[in-house]
Amino acid sequence: MRSGFKIGKLFGIQIRVDWSWLVIFFLATWNLGTVLGSLHNEWGLTLRWGLALVTSLLFFASVLMHELGHALVARAQGIPVSNITLHLFGGVSNIQREPASAGSEFVMAILGPLTSFVIGGIFLVIFTLTANIPMPFGAPERVLEQVGPVSTMVLWLGTVNIGLGLFNLIPGFPLDGGRILRSFFWAVTDNLKRATRWASRSGRLIAWLLIFSGIAMSFGARIPLLGTGLSNGLWLAFIGWFLHNAAAQSYQQLIIRDILEDVPVAELMRKTPPIVSPTSTVATLVHSYVMENDDYAFPVMEDSRLRGLVTLDDVRAVARDAWQTTHVQEIMTLAKDLITIGPEDNTREALDRLSRRDVRQLPVMHEGTLEGLLRRRDIVKWLQLQSEMDIA
Ligand SMILES: [Zn+2]
Repeated sequence: MRSGFKIGKLFGIQIRVDWSWLVIFFLATWNLGTVLGSLHNEWGLTLRWGLALVTSLLFFASVLMHELGHALVARAQGIPVSNITLHLFGGVSNIQREPASAGSEFVMAILGPLTSFVIGGIFLVIFTLTANIPMPFGAPERVLEQVGPVSTMVLWLGTVNIGLGLFNLIPGFPLDGGRILRSFFWAVTDNLKRATRWASRSGRLIAWLLIFSGIAMSFGARIPLLGTGLSNGLWLAFIGWFLHNAAAQSYQQLIIRDILEDVPVAELMRKTPPIVSPTSTVATLVHSYVMENDDYAFPVMEDSRLRGLVTLDDVRAVARDAWQTTHVQEIMTLAKDLITIGPEDNTREALDRLSRRDVRQLPVMHEGTLEGLLRRRDIVKWLQLQSEMDIA
C-alpha cells in the first residue's frame, strides 16, 4: 500500500518518510557537495560533505515545519490529523476531513507557504548578518565564492524555503495554491464539489502547461524564469506529470466520498462472516478458517456475544510449534479495543474510520450485538460495480 517508514511523533502526529523522499535527500546532498567542491576546494572533503549533509537535514526539518503549519491549524479547528508523510515533492499531511468552511480551508492552506516564507526569511536575515558582503548581492556563484560555510548554508536554505513556498502556491489543486483557489470558488459558489472540480481542472491545466514547457525546454526553447536545457526541461515535465496525477486523484477521492455518503453500511457489509470460538486453538483457526476462506480477520464469538477479533497478523506472531497449544483468546484483539461501526452509519464514515486506524475491516455493531463485518474490499468491490454500471 504506502511505502516508507515511520521516524517518530511530533505534537502527537505520526511522522513518516516515503522512500521517494530519500531520492531528494540524496540529490540535494550530492548537488550541494559537488557545487561546494567547485567553489571552495580549500575547505576539504569532510567540511564540504558534512556541510552538505547538515544542510539537507535542515531542509528536511523545513519541509516538516511547512507541513506542521497545515496540520496544527487543522487540529486547532477540530480536524484530526493522523500523520505527515514526506515524499519526493515535499510533504503531505493526512488531514482526515474536509474543512468546515471556505474560510478555514483558506487559513489551513496558506499557513504552509507562510511558514516556508518565514523560515526562508529568517535564514536570509542570518545570511546578511553573517556574510559581511556589501549589498546588493551579485550572481549566486560570485556571492558563494566570497562567504564562509555557515553563510553558504543559510543562503541555500533561505532560497530553497522561499522556492518551496512559491512552488506550493501554484494554483492547482491539491497544491496549497490550488486549495486557496478552491476556498475562493467555494466561498463564491457555496458548493464544495463544484469548487473542487474547478480547482482540480486548474491543476490539470497548469500541469499540462508545465509538461509542454518542459518538453519545449528539452528541445532548446527558452522560457522566461524557467530557462532552458534538457535536464531542466525533463524535471519540469516530470513535476507536471506528478501534479496532473495528484489533481485527478484528489477529485476522484472527493467523488468516491460523495457516493459513499448515501450508502448505509448494512448494504455493503457481510451479514454472516465466519466466526471463531475463543477456545479454539490457533491450529484449528488456521486449518478450518484461514485456509477455507479468503478472509483476513475473524470475529471471535461466545454465547452470541462478540469477544474480539483475530487476524492473520495475530496468527503470524505465533510460532508454528505453538499452534496446537495457543488459543484464539490469547492472541485476539479484545472487543473493547476494536473500532466498530453501526449498520445505519454511512459508508463514508466507515471508510474514514478504516483509514484513520489503518485497519482492513470493521465489525458492524447494533445495540451490543454483531450484525456483520464490513471489509475494505467490500467497499472497493461495490465502487468497481458502480463505475462499470456508469460506463454501461
Ligand atoms: Zn503545503
